[in-house]
Amino acid sequence: MPDKDLICSFCGLSKVQTNLLVAGQEAHICDSCIEQAYGIIIEESKKEDSNTNKEELKIAKPKEIKLFLDDYVIGQEQTKKIISVAVYNHYKRLYQKKYDDTIEIEKSNVLIAGQTGTGKTLIAKTISKMLNVPLAIVDATVLTEAGYVGEDVETILTRLLQAADYDQKKAERGIVFIDEIDKIARKNDNPSITRDVSGEGVQQALLKLLEGTVVNVPPKGGRKHPDQKFIELDTQNILFIAGGAFDGIEKIISKRLNMQVVGYKNSSKILMNDTKNLLSYISPMDLKSYGLIPEIIGRLPVLTHMNSLDKKSLRSILTDPKNAIVKQYEKLFEMDEIKISFTDNGLDYIVEKALEYKLGARGLRSICEIVLNDAMFEFPGSKRKKLTVDKNYISNKLSNSKLNVLKAAS
Ligand code: ADP
Repeated sequence: MPDKDLICSFCGLSKVQTNLLVAGQEAHICDSCIEQAYGIIIEESKKEDSNTNKEELKIAKPKEIKLFLDDYVIGQEQTKKIISVAVYNHYKRLYQKKYDDTIEIEKSNVLIAGQTGTGKTLIAKTISKMLNVPLAIVDATVLTEAGYVGEDVETILTRLLQAADYDQKKAERGIVFIDEIDKIARKNDNPSITRDVSGEGVQQALLKLLEGTVVNVPPKGGRKHPDQKFIELDTQNILFIAGGAFDGIEKIISKRLNMQVVGYKNSSKILMNDTKNLLSYISPMDLKSYGLIPEIIGRLPVLTHMNSLDKKSLRSILTDPKNAIVKQYEKLFEMDEIKISFTDNGLDYIVEKALEYKLGARGLRSICEIVLNDAMFEFPGSKRKKLTVDKNYISNKLSNSKLNVLKAAS
């Protein structure tokens, strides 16, 4: 083709109309198109930079994470601090891996020991809310080793995928809360004379997930089935938080502590006075004696505990968190233009009953439901626009209630 007939393949200008026409294999590009394309490249890379910067800024500092937790979780100061650091390190690790792989930072999966209803799930929920990452809450008791009746451990990831609206990338940075991890402890201290499919077998199956591996996840859950299409999920950056009540572990802790302090008179005295807070001395050794296998313990390196909730904490749970139970009822009634108010002696009485019936923080809600059910039924649509909930009102409503059933069930 004669030179004068050549044109820029991008803008169509002929060679004579340009300062320069660069030839490619089967196309040409003129100087002004090169300039424009270069401009686009610069713009795009700026955008990418600002995205990564923003992402980096998005990792809240441990103190900010703790402050956020404070808005929702009452007490549990030490655990909130430990978790804030673990979460911060976990997400820092993700960025470190992107830019520098000279030092491998290991995962900081967490294990929280503490009675039921002390806020373990609440902490996991609050963290996921703060970080805006998907959260899956699963119960370890329904899991079994592959091939046995029950759910394969992969279904944990199905839940996470569902929580992430099937966005694989989002799921891969999510949080999994495994509740009742203590229930898959080995049933006795004797490693596997008979097969222990619901205990040790599940622990074994969980190992890989906790450590980080690529798993074929059945998107709809259920059993793995040869015809089902799988979604591949890498668990390396998923933060696992395990929780459990570890009933009876105090005995193990005290046994270990007493053994340790033989010969140290002073320390044993301190421990004698501190029998109430034995759980705060929990160590990986105790988990092993309880029946968790060492490999699982190693993959949940951040170990912490929840204090049982005393009267003061329960009272505060009623009114102080951002979405406190009392605030929720006020909102519910307000939507029908009804002003509900709780008196101090009323609130104290609810706490008293929750303690009396050993219902813990969960009981606060159940008691309020029982107490307010009549009002929530009668008031909407009626002329009554004001309700004062005091000790008398509560005791009256509770006297004919099914609270005793709750007690029996606890
Ligand atoms: P766990 O996972 O330890 O069994 P949850 O986190 O599910 O307990 O707590 C049950 C309910 O009790 C929560 O929804 C929350 O309303 C309340 N609760 C428990 N502990 C606390 C706490 N420390 N601060 C505020 N609310 C709490």
